[in-house]
Amino acid sequence: MDRRKFLKTAGFTTAVVGGMILSGCSNNKKEEVKNVNVSKKKETTLKVCLSWPKTLPIMGEGIYYFADRVKELTDGALKIKIYGANELVPALGVFDACSKGQIDGFHSGPYYWKGKNPAFSLFSAVPFGMVADEMNAWLDFGGGMEKWRELYSKYNLIPFKGGNTGNQMGGWFRKPIKSLADLKGLKMRIPGLGGEVMARLGVKPVNIPGGELYTALERGVIDATEWVGPALDIKMGFYKVAKYYYSGWHEPGTVLELTFNKEKFDKLPKEFKAAIEVASNDMHSRMLAQFQYENGVALKKIMDGKYGVKLCEFPNDVNEAAKKAIKEILEENANKSTDFRDVYETIERFFPDTRKWSDVGMKWFLDVRDTNFKYDKC
Ligand code: CA
Repeated sequence: MDRRKFLKTAGFTTAVVGGMILSGCSNNKKEEVKNVNVSKKKETTLKVCLSWPKTLPIMGEGIYYFADRVKELTDGALKIKIYGANELVPALGVFDACSKGQIDGFHSGPYYWKGKNPAFSLFSAVPFGMVADEMNAWLDFGGGMEKWRELYSKYNLIPFKGGNTGNQMGGWFRKPIKSLADLKGLKMRIPGLGGEVMARLGVKPVNIPGGELYTALERGVIDATEWVGPALDIKMGFYKVAKYYYSGWHEPGTVLELTFNKEKFDKLPKEFKAAIEVASNDMHSRMLAQFQYENGVALKKIMDGKYGVKLCEFPNDVNEAAKKAIKEILEENANKSTDFRDVYETIERFFPDTRKWSDVGMKWFLDVRDTNFKYDKC
């Protein structure tokens, strides 16, 4: 038996990971102290770029929270340097820049890259599909995260959960939508599968980075935009230029991504890798809680009439046409793209049972929980 094999059998394995000596004996206090010191010397900084301004509330705060958690978890050895949209690379250039190793990571949304692979939209949101809890369950237990990592590895990337916005609002319209006919010819900023559905309904969908949206809406470059929900939308100022605010079905629980260059990530010490995983999960759940809280606060102000906004629901013919459209779109994408079909199959296996539980548990409860809410007549 060679020495290495013997040590392994005897339970005395040692391994050098990123210059750090790990021992099979975890109770050796002397060695633990040494590990921390060695980590400190191996200080690493990762450059992470955003697809939105770094001052953006909630989503921007989320990435700074992540950076702080990583710093704490690694005793300051791993630092995350954050760059807002267009500081190092264009807002929607982060995927390519990270894939090529020009930046180390990015905070964005996978549906922005559907032009590279239609399957990526599924990791963000499916119209009339999963809400935040269901998305989390699919990613962690339904095979979603496994597929996401498998697909992104083809682009030299590794994704982590980067937050969830919860249910999103349908968007801001300059004129009321009284029937399906009113959507025809409207130019609207709406990404992902939601954009594909709107296209079937006669809308011209475009994707514009968040930082440029207000000006586009104000100048009439677009007639309508969706963004996220009351908290962020009010801060973006859309209410000043579009007065009709619709509830939505296009993004029921949108997942954001915190993605790293895979080659770079693979070379990190395993304690750094674990810190990134733990801190991203922490950011992910915290962000959903913050959206839930702040959306409620902002919605109250809208309902109190502070912004002169009408809260609306889409008419039935729009909703029914959208439901029909998403079925066709999912089927067509699955026929066109093997990746899309593979990912969508995991959703089809997972979703029916989860959906029943959501209906029997949550929907029943929400329906009987007393509410006096009525939409404005739009
Ligand atoms: Ca959105």
